[in-house]
Amino acid sequence: MKKKRIVVLTGAGISAESGLQTFRDADGLWEGHNVYDVATPEAWHRDPVMVQEFYNMRRRSVLAANPNEAHKALVQLEDKYEVFIVTQNIDDLHERAGSGQVIHLHGIITKSQSERYPHLTYDIDGPDLKMGELCEKGHQLRPHVVWFGEPVPMIEKAVEICQEADILIIIGTSLQVYPAAGLIDTVPPTAEIYLVDPKTTVHHFNKINVVQEKAVLGVPRLVRELVERTDT
Ligand code: NAD
Repeated sequence: MKKKRIVVLTGAGISAESGLQTFRDADGLWEGHNVYDVATPEAWHRDPVMVQEFYNMRRRSVLAANPNEAHKALVQLEDKYEVFIVTQNIDDLHERAGSGQVIHLHGIITKSQSERYPHLTYDIDGPDLKMGELCEKGHQLRPHVVWFGEPVPMIEKAVEICQEADILIIIGTSLQVYPAAGLIDTVPPTAEIYLVDPKTTVHHFNKINVVQEKAVLGVPRLVRELVERTDT
C-alpha cells in the first residue's frame, strides 16, 4: 500500500536547541547584524570581505553544532511515511540526523557557489571560504545561500511536493519569509497541519493544530503519535 506523505517545513527554531541562533527572537538581528547588512546581494557588492567573514563565522557554528532530539525524531517518521523535509535553514543538521530527503530552500552553508554562475556549486573543505577562491570559470566563490531579494530556485519542487501532502508539520519558523511561508497554502484542503513553535502567533488559523512547545519537546511527542497511529 502507498505510504502517506508527510511534508515537514522547518525554520531556524528547530536548530535553536542545537545552539544556532534564530534571528527574529533577537529583534531582527542575526548574531548582532541587521540581516540586510549581511544577507543581500547589495551587502555582498558593498563589502564582500565582511559578508564572507560573517558566513565563515556561521559555518564554524554549524560545524560545531549537533542535531538535536527534534531533528533525530523526524527520521523515525520514515519507517511509516513518505517524508520530505523542506527547510529554510542553511545548516546541515537534518542530513546529519539521518533524514533521507531534504530540500534546502535557502541553500546550505557548507557549499559555495560562483558569484557569476550560481549553478556552479562546490563543497567547502573546512570552515572558511576565502576571497580569491574561484569557480572553474574564474569568478569569486560566495556562500551557497539564497539572500533576500534573490530567486528561490527550489520553491517549484517544494510546491510540487506539498501539493501531494497528507500531513504538513511546520516547526520553528515565524512564517514571515516568502515564498517559503506561502507553502502552507499549497497543501490539499484535506491535509492535516501541525505547527510546533513555543511563541507562534498563528492561532487564528483554526485549521492548524498548534503545539506550543520547543521543538525538542513537541516534535518527538508528535512523531510518536503519528508513528503509533493505526489508520495509516
Ligand atoms: P525566524 O528567526 O524568523 O523565526 C524563528 C521561529 O522559531 C520563531 O517563530 C520562534 O518562536 C521559533 N523558535 C524559537 N526557539 C524555538 C525552539 N526551541 N523550538 C521551536 N521553535 C522555536 O526564522 P525563520 O522563520 O526560519 O526565518 C529565518 C531565515 O533565517 C531563514 O530563511 C533561514 O535561512 C535563516 N536562518 C537560518 C538559521 C539556520 O540555518 N540554523 C539560523 C538563523 C537564520
